[in-house]
Amino acid sequence: MDYRVLLDDAMETARRSPDRGRVADYIPALAQADPTAFGMAIATVDGAVFGAGDWQHPFSIQSVSKLFTLALALAEGGDGLWAGVGREPSGNPFNSLVQLETEQGIPRNPFINAGALIVTDRLLKLTGDAVGAVRGFLQAESGNPEVGVDDSVASSEARHGHRNAAMAHFMASYGNLRNPVDSVLAHYYAHCAITASCRDLALAGLFLARHGIRADGSRLLSRSEAKRINAVLLTCGTYDAAGEFAYRVGLPGKSGVGGGILAVLPGRGTVCVWSPGLDAAGNSVLGVAALDALTTATGWSVF
Ligand code: GLU
Repeated sequence: MDYRVLLDDAMETARRSPDRGRVADYIPALAQADPTAFGMAIATVDGAVFGAGDWQHPFSIQSVSKLFTLALALAEGGDGLWAGVGREPSGNPFNSLVQLETEQGIPRNPFINAGALIVTDRLLKLTGDAVGAVRGFLQAESGNPEVGVDDSVASSEARHGHRNAAMAHFMASYGNLRNPVDSVLAHYYAHCAITASCRDLALAGLFLARHGIRADGSRLLSRSEAKRINAVLLTCGTYDAAGEFAYRVGLPGKSGVGGGILAVLPGRGTVCVWSPGLDAAGNSVLGVAALDALTTATGWSVF
């Protein structure tokens, strides 16, 4: 199979999209992203990786990091995590606070900001260094020691992160944080500010395609845990448009406001795409279009 031809074709189809979306600017440092950047990579379960366009260019992974914090928190701490965060789609924007009061400070799922703050908190408690755990995992799985935190993005977000700070304090008022609010926020901003390329993320996500097995052959998660993470990715991983993403792409996936999307083909591999222009829900416009084209052309989908 010539994966590069598949990627070129999918990107070519996506480029025909009349709408390119808008680069996120609510975190000022993200507004500097090149709106014309576009890259895509496929990694197969045996660890081979193929790419097209800007597939080796590092970008701000933002909420794609939430997939890794969830996997590591479950691997380290097990199912107790679910006492503090739910597993249902929220039906609200990723940064919404509205459900937190009626649901006693327990966020709907681990991929909205409130839920990711809880997961970050638990990972921090379990490891003493949540961002170090995520960065180390990404470096190990991608084989790229350059994967790191862009401090200028993290501090830009910290300066403008009033909503995240409000959510963290609100959840702390319900006793749903195990660490000081400031530490949780610092680790959250830092893991969102990790920079990695489509190549790096496609390789780092392979443990989900391999039903829990890492690049070195060791087991991170049980088969059942990996299945469950893929299920939560499918239902909650692409903001308040997870239904539309399932309809068009048909794969578990996690998007971020940096324009990256990492999707999992269970048993087969992963696909990562990056283009910074976002739709109203926060998903990369060309990214979704390219994944749609790829899964439509190949029939690779969980359905
Ligand atoms: N760090 C970003 C925030 O908290 C992540 C948003 C995203 O990518 O969904 O707003």
